[in-house]
Amino acid sequence: MFFHSTRGKDKSKSFEEVLMQGLADDGGLFMPDSWPEVDLNELKGKNTFLDVAKYIVPMFTKSSFTDEEVLEVLENTWHDFSHSDLAAIKELDDNKFVLELFHGPTAAFKDFGLQLAAAFFNKSLTKQGKTAIVLGATSGDTGSAAIDACKRFDSIKSFILLPDGNMSEVQRKQMTTVNSKNVFAIRVNGSFDDCQDIVKQAFQERSFLKSDQYLLAVNSINWVRIIGQICYYFYAAKQINNFKEPLNFSVPTGNFGNVFACYSAYKMGMPLNKIVVAVNSNNILHRFFSSNDYSKNVVQETISPSMDISIASNFERLIYDYYMDRDADLCRKAYASFPSQPIHLDKSIWEKSKNLFLSYTVNDGDTFNAMQKTYKKYNYLIDPHTAVASEAIDALSDLNDNKSVILSTAHPAKFPNTIKESNLEIENMPTSLSEIYNLEEEVFHFPASKELIFDFIIKHNQ
Ligand SMILES: *Cc1c(COP(=O)(O)O)cnc(C)c1O
Repeated sequence: MFFHSTRGKDKSKSFEEVLMQGLADDGGLFMPDSWPEVDLNELKGKNTFLDVAKYIVPMFTKSSFTDEEVLEVLENTWHDFSHSDLAAIKELDDNKFVLELFHGPTAAFKDFGLQLAAAFFNKSLTKQGKTAIVLGATSGDTGSAAIDACKRFDSIKSFILLPDGNMSEVQRKQMTTVNSKNVFAIRVNGSFDDCQDIVKQAFQERSFLKSDQYLLAVNSINWVRIIGQICYYFYAAKQINNFKEPLNFSVPTGNFGNVFACYSAYKMGMPLNKIVVAVNSNNILHRFFSSNDYSKNVVQETISPSMDISIASNFERLIYDYYMDRDADLCRKAYASFPSQPIHLDKSIWEKSKNLFLSYTVNDGDTFNAMQKTYKKYNYLIDPHTAVASEAIDALSDLNDNKSVILSTAHPAKFPNTIKESNLEIENMPTSLSEIYNLEEEVFHFPASKELIFDFIIKHNQ
């Protein structure tokens, strides 16, 4: 299996190249040259999440690693989960299930993708005898999951830029209390966009790297993160009805990574009725699916901060694969003047949307209501991101009579203030979160200056 870019220039890239490179040189996103086909009968015999992953992951890695190497990586990939099977499924009623993806060490679903990424980064670096710097900007859960996934590997040093702004205290402390010589949390006196600009310049200049050192991105476009997420869709469909009937999946989304993993599972053969694209007030995706308007707006702060985005970076993959039938020229043209110009597809192409997708936008008031409603009805506490997906299922009538699965992307204890404001209470605090409150924070403060930050990295890159 080789990979190519959605914009046509980069071709025949191996898994390892795609892993270490992240974004394609032409600005596009990497895609597998074809969709591997899953044998559902074989998957039916896999009992655990890990067994499912051991079947799915090697479908994408053969251009770089032997299956033996991959199985060995997978044995040591997902760690510090508080649930023995990593993901859990909670049945709310006959037709409604929750796929709990928050049992990892940072209590958000990003542990699935980022622990897999870190394990493969380390495998590749060890094989090549090289080291790497991970540099990222984060406004939420990506940074903590990346830090946690990378901190146990001596081959990787992580520098994470934290903007001022809408991050819960727990989210911040997960990044500032790590106490590892490989991890540096840098609080930048600036916005998320300021931080992202610095990261972008870092990738252009690379001046602070040692020779033989990689600079790795941990943003949500890395294909390996999608692979990690594909696994839990197959796992859920198998556990719920052994692939007998197509399910609906309601996915609370920002950058479209998690939705794209669901779409990928469908392309690989998972029975699927509808994907519900559930967003907060940052609703560029809803505007696309409801009115063919993919246009950038200013980001609004919401109580589901990990979905506060202005554009959905992984969405380009869907445009390319689903709407444009993998025509890279068309895709490059559509993105040539985006985001200054919106993307509107030809109506005849856009109309395909309804065959597979439904979308819904949920404001903060309705998110609070959904949390309260779910608690009252099912005695089950959900976090504000999960609430967005849950509300979408309740509001949409067009789900046929298929069973629906709500993706629960974070543990409610990550957002204690929002839980309190909903007059609800956190009952079972995961120990990974409760311990954080007693730990000393270590954070380095900087103005939004790339020179000062690059100097800091050089000093700590010995
Ligand atoms: C990152 C995140 C999301 C959004 O995921 P995407 O893949 O960007 O759509 C949703 N919920 C939580 C809790 C997250 O951390």
